[in-house]
Amino acid sequence: MPRKYSNLESYQVLSDIRALALQEQSLIVDLLEYLYEVDVRKLYAPLAYSSLFEFGVKELGFTRAQSYERTRAVAAMKQIPEVRERIRAGELSLTNAALLKRAIDAEERALGSKVDAHFKAALVAAALGATKREFQGKLDEVLTSPESRAAMRERVLHRSATRTALQFEIDVATETKMKRARELVDAPTLEELFDRALDSLIEAEEVKRRYRSGGGKKNDRDRRIEEKEDGTLVAPSHDLVAGHHEGPESSTKEIPIKQKSLVSRYIPAKYRMLIAKRSGAQCEYIDPGTMRRCSSRSHLQIDHKMPLAMGGTTTLENLRHLCGTHNRLEAVNARLGINLKG
Ligand SMILES: [Zn+2]
Repeated sequence: MPRKYSNLESYQVLSDIRALALQEQSLIVDLLEYLYEVDVRKLYAPLAYSSLFEFGVKELGFTRAQSYERTRAVAAMKQIPEVRERIRAGELSLTNAALLKRAIDAEERALGSKVDAHFKAALVAAALGATKREFQGKLDEVLTSPESRAAMRERVLHRSATRTALQFEIDVATETKMKRARELVDAPTLEELFDRALDSLIEAEEVKRRYRSGGGKKNDRDRRIEEKEDGTLVAPSHDLVAGHHEGPESSTKEIPIKQKSLVSRYIPAKYRMLIAKRSGAQCEYIDPGTMRRCSSRSHLQIDHKMPLAMGGTTTLENLRHLCGTHNRLEAVNARLGINLKG
């Protein structure tokens, strides 16, 4: 029923607005609690959304700024129980809860490790009852710039005219790559491994540049990707033959894709390229209900449709791109024996 706000008595305007403000607060708390459940239960994933943020924008019609703020606030609630109580009590604004979470994330990225409870408590205390501007001012005091911290973690020490020492931190994923690289190449020391990694990188980048500038076209026939009738893409057949070597022009460092790789978790670079071409570098998960495809292009991982443990192979037909969210969802489904894969 439309109301004539201009006809209201002034005392009524004041009492109504107080009541509405209270309702708004309890509505926001409810909204966050429901978002929290959607997040914890990952209810957005089967609907082909890669994140709670995307769910907020596309399913609930939030603006991007609203969805960002609300999902950050939910993340803060998950990480710090006190945040939930303070929001509920009206002492912590959504904006400050979101800022707080962003500050913690930035700090953890810079540190490369989790912040402690003391740090979190200090941030919550600074956020309580503060306006956004006041809180931001306090944050600047608490935090030095994350960039300068990151720079402090990397050191280049010139020991002598010919020797330099490097010191930097790597995460688990990089360490795993390092171990794998060490298994594959003959590099008894880290120095040799690093040197060879740089060689490969430089070589790969120079080849890319040559291709971009129009050189090196004579190998196009060899590099052509074959398309089968069903639309799947396959590498040229000679790539699949173990130990096959091309003519003297070909690089001796090129590793052919061996038959052995069919049961290996290792996915050759050539396959990665073909899979990216086929998927358009986009998650290939499809909501079985609406047939809507996930639009995520971030954190793409290559997934075995039929897991190796269940007899799947490392073949192009059995591989696809999934974003982090859908990779985890499918892993859970596989464990539960749910097969939604086409
Ligand atoms: Zn996805």
